[in-house]
Amino acid sequence: MYLIIGLLCCLACAICIAACGGHEHTYSDEWSSDENEHWRAAVCEHVVEIADKGAHEFDGLSCAVCGYAIPGTQGLEYSLSSDGSGYSVIGIGNVKEAEIEIPYMYNGLPVTGIGSNAFYYCSFIESLSFPKALPT
Ligand SMILES: [Zn+2]
Ligand SMILES: [Zn+2]
Repeated sequence: MYLIIGLLCCLACAICIAACGGHEHTYSDEWSSDENEHWRAAVCEHVVEIADKGAHEFDGLSCAVCGYAIPGTQGLEYSLSSDGSGYSVIGIGNVKEAEIEIPYMYNGLPVTGIGSNAFYYCSFIESLSFPKALPT
């Protein structure tokens, strides 16, 4: 019995070594990312290899894993829509900037609207910019 297990184990090792040449890819400590996903690129000669690829896990405007940040003003107040499909901006929060850029996404969900009184008392705001995706 032990002999068989031992043989199987050796066989598995032999296959693995044959397949990967006994080389373990080295991956960067730095995350690479695009709008949707993050990954680690190999820094050995196998540059097409990537590891830990996955969708961003947004906490507010940035990914908790890789730090990728959605462009936009930090600190606005949001409200989740009743069906849970998106967020509306409902207030200025702790933002003191005169130029506000509404992010297109918050907590991984689309920002789909702006509350009618969201910026009512905010006379210091000089400009508001919206993502292209936001319906008007
Ligand atoms: Zn490699
Ligand atoms: Zn990420």
